[in-house]
Amino acid sequence: MSKMGNETLKAELGRSAWRVLHTMAGKFPTEPNLDEQQAMQDFIYLFARLYPCGDCARHFKTVLEGHPPIVTSRTTITQWACDVHNVVNKRLHKPIFDCAKVLELWKCGCAEDASGTNSSVSTTS
Ligand code: FAD
Repeated sequence: MSKMGNETLKAELGRSAWRVLHTMAGKFPTEPNLDEQQAMQDFIYLFARLYPCGDCARHFKTVLEGHPPIVTSRTTITQWACDVHNVVNKRLHKPIFDCAKVLELWKCGCAEDASGTNSSVSTTS
């Protein structure tokens, strides 16, 4: 495959991966219990370890060393995700995103129960 093709695929992968990360953060419980906090932390470190673009994964692991995930609430994790995305944006000379707008941009359209936690059974998504 051409260099251009690879770059296009890498960018598509990135857009999809950021969508998953930001929408997961936006659906994280507002007051997560310890098990939920551990699950999010584990997911993020495994995401960095298994991310299929090797150069991106190597860089992202170093980003995590300087910016460990803050999993204590929905607010902290959404801001953290925005911050680390901005670190990658900076590396790629892309515009820095205004993190005050992160929750309004990344909505998944999924059902949510009254406590603000993810529904295990959803009929709308
Ligand atoms: P993206 O950066 O994919 O962003 C998608 C949309 O998210 C934007 O259009 C904007 O609306 C919104 N957005 C932008 N910044 C933020 C923010 N801070 N918070 C919330 N929303 C935001 N590519 C490389 O070439 N080299 C790398 O080292 C590399 N590392 C990556 C590491 C990770 C963990 C991930 C998930 C992706 C990485 N990528 C890397 C891919 C890269 O970040 C982009 O996804 C890709 O270049 C496509 O960029 P884009 O301009 O379409 O927007």
